[in-house]
Amino acid sequence: MSAATSRRLLCGWGRAGASAADVARPEDPTGVVAALGAARSAGRVAIARGLGRAYGDAAQCGGGTVLDCTGLDGMLSADLEAGRVRVGAGTSLADLLATVVPAGWFLPVTPGTAAVTIGGALAADVHGKNHHRDGSFGGFVERVSLAGPDGVRVYDPTEAPDAFFATVGGMGLTGVVTEVTLRLQRIETALMAVETRRAADIDECMALLSAEDAHVPYSVAWVDGVARGGRLGRAVVTLGRHATLGELPAAACATPLERHGRRRLPVPFAPPVNLVGPGVVAAFNEAYFRRAPRARTSLETIDGYFYPLDALADWNRLYGPRGFTQYQFVVPLDAADVVRRVLEHLQQRHKTPTLVVLKRFGVASRAPLSFPMPGWTAAIDLATGNPGLAAALDELDELVAAAGGRVYLAKDGRLRPDLVAAMYPRLDQWRATRAKLDPDGLFASDLARRLHLTGPDGPKRRRG
Ligand SMILES: Cc1cc2nc3c(=O)[nH]c(=O)nc-3n(C[C@H](O)[C@H](O)[C@H](O)COP(=O)(O)OP(=O)(O)OC[C@H]3O[C@@H](n4cnc5c(N)ncnc54)[C@H](O)[C@@H]3O)c2cc1C
Repeated sequence: MSAATSRRLLCGWGRAGASAADVARPEDPTGVVAALGAARSAGRVAIARGLGRAYGDAAQCGGGTVLDCTGLDGMLSADLEAGRVRVGAGTSLADLLATVVPAGWFLPVTPGTAAVTIGGALAADVHGKNHHRDGSFGGFVERVSLAGPDGVRVYDPTEAPDAFFATVGGMGLTGVVTEVTLRLQRIETALMAVETRRAADIDECMALLSAEDAHVPYSVAWVDGVARGGRLGRAVVTLGRHATLGELPAAACATPLERHGRRRLPVPFAPPVNLVGPGVVAAFNEAYFRRAPRARTSLETIDGYFYPLDALADWNRLYGPRGFTQYQFVVPLDAADVVRRVLEHLQQRHKTPTLVVLKRFGVASRAPLSFPMPGWTAAIDLATGNPGLAAALDELDELVAAAGGRVYLAKDGRLRPDLVAAMYPRLDQWRATRAKLDPDGLFASDLARRLHLTGPDGPKRRRG
């Protein structure tokens, strides 16, 4: 039986560029196959959706079918001796953590929110604060089950590397992931030992990250995107590692794996205007930088360290009805100066970054569409609806591409198609594998159609 569908308007986390699709919510792999078969019979394109945390249009399919995969949730089997789990692709990282942390395990790689699904994490090959040391999410996946309209197939990196690595980072365009087998990492406690350091400008910040990355598993910098002149790129750098039992205060030693402080506050209303304007940002940044210790080590909770924004549910509403975008790019290590130029460029064009996060990446994945490469990545939040923003970001795309860098597809809702092949040089290799996995051209998203990801002419199938 095919799952029932309902017509819904969907957008990404940035809340811009919504499109309407028929949404099905299958609860098992059989339901996924049936929904895909129904879409194919109706001559429609389809795409999987997780928790909608991609910022742009990756999990949208205007006029087509969207498969809400959150019904494919739950632990299917767990070996908590070896740290290996087989989970439904619709399981959220938050739910997985609730099961594995008390048993002394943690995710091998986590993005900055736990409100993403395992399928979404795999499809974007997400990275975390430990990328410089451990690489991206797909590196810890041992097996995926991938559904198409004719059934479910299982792929692993040894027996079927082409299909496996086309699916890792493949943005849902090779099929619907229904199950994932994932290796976890051991932890002794549910607390993080975090060293905080202030950097006076962008050069000091990058020097600090470069020097410390050899010693710590997790590193990242909050950068003041508003400070100018000699203070351009001043930053608060945090260097973290999982705390050991011996580091806990006596009171916490009896329950070292207990998680504390996970209260979630809602944004109680949808403001009619952007509440995160330039004045608010400047005042916040000044206070945040000044309040940060010059150098301090402290114990923090897993949630406070990895997922600070999850404490405020629906915080994306603070940007008002026009929403916001996140411009995340990476440039190779020898093009580090691009980071400074990007900050200067936005300031010269009076675009106020509301949040800037900087990180140094390590080795790239084998997956052809995976975003990280050895280099510097900056993720920059910007309110949309700002005149001239599109042109300013187009100029940055040119700068990033010319430096051998790329923008992150999971954050994108605006890039032009002509730069994609330069940014993702293994695009043709991915397209060739994808075409074999999806010979009917069933899978497409608004992102894929906007960027002609699946080929210069896009999918042949009609939109509905
Ligand atoms: C606050 C915040 C912080 C973030 N921090 C980071 C970060 O640090 N690092 C990072 O890499 N990313 C980060 N992200 C981005 C986020 O991790 C990715 O966009 C992730 O893909 C979202 O997962 P989702 O379940 O919400 O999927 P969706 O947003 O619903 O979909 C994203 C993509 O995954 C595909 N997909 C989803 N489920 C499946 C499935 N079952 N089978 C096949 N394809 C599927 C969709 O088709 C789409 O292409 C952050 C996002 C937010 C909102």
